[in-house]
Amino acid sequence: MLTLQSVQTLLTFLAAWSVAFGLATWAAALLWTYHDIRRRTKDRVAHVLALLVVLLFSLPGLALYLLLRPTETLEDAYRRDLEEEVLLQALETTRRCPGCARPVQPDWRICPWCHTQLRKVCHQCGRLLELPWDICPYCGTPVPGMRRVEREEGRPLLEVPPDAKDADAPSQD
Ligand SMILES: [Zn+2]
Ligand SMILES: [Zn+2]
Repeated sequence: MLTLQSVQTLLTFLAAWSVAFGLATWAAALLWTYHDIRRRTKDRVAHVLALLVVLLFSLPGLALYLLLRPTETLEDAYRRDLEEEVLLQALETTRRCPGCARPVQPDWRICPWCHTQLRKVCHQCGRLLELPWDICPYCGTPVPGMRRVEREEGRPLLEVPPDAKDADAPSQD
């Protein structure tokens, strides 16, 4: 038989339990927010604001925090920066044809797209040399320098050897 007193005891217990549950949830939300905001920003002011919002408004505050928090974690940002850097480095190290700016391989002598000469060959050892070099770094043989000529019929800048009949000169036809 339920007496008035036992009903009151039950209600008191339920109220106490609700308060305890609310407090625990609130504390958990605070703790979670603290860890989450630290993963997303190093800004102390942002840390305090995030904690304040949850401290003052509990679960609705947490919802507000979830809406307003920085979308990217510091780890994400770091990874993105790293990826961008790698991509940029790959772009920078890609050799490009001075004539048409298409990517070319480092061991190509001539651009297959626009026929611009990219490298010259040492007559002594046959190694590939950069065009401005006047001596072969592999065997020490002096290499005839190249002179730049501008072709009139819309051709790009072309590096040609002083001797046009040079066997290593690229065929332009
Ligand atoms: Zn080219
Ligand atoms: Zn050489």
